[in-house]
Amino acid sequence: MTVFSKIVNGEIPCYKIAEDEHFFAFLDINPLTKGHTLVIPKLEVDYIFDIDDKSLSDMIIFAKKVAIAIEKSVSCSRVGVAVIGLEVPHAHIHLIPINRESDMNFKNSKQKLTEKEMTEIAAKIRSNF
Ligand code: AMP
Repeated sequence: MTVFSKIVNGEIPCYKIAEDEHFFAFLDINPLTKGHTLVIPKLEVDYIFDIDDKSLSDMIIFAKKVAIAIEKSVSCSRVGVAVIGLEVPHAHIHLIPINRESDMNFKNSKQKLTEKEMTEIAAKIRSNF
């Protein structure tokens, strides 16, 4: 079972943002910017382009709703979208509030946010979802 499936099952804690029958969103634990969120399918699939067309479309639509909630919660020019997937073998879309191109650079040092800050930003995004 992947670490993300354990998050979905509640075996590992997370800063949850939203879920529906098929998808789940939570804060990235090592955020590039405040509000950096991951969207995953509940079904364990490693590579995003192995997801069937209908589910992938639904995942993007779910991610869009999450991105709109992030935009309402965090001061940013827009929400950047990225798929890397080299670390965790469970498909995920990164939603990253950005103000400049360099905010999307995964080589940037990660934000050091306190548990309180992570809890608060997750609650804010949740309330706007
Ligand atoms: P990648 O697979 O390269 O797209 O990167 C995986 C992402 O998942 C990284 O940005 C990690 O910070 C994030 N990540 C790994 N484990 C957790 C976790 N337990 N909770 C939240 N985010 C995580």
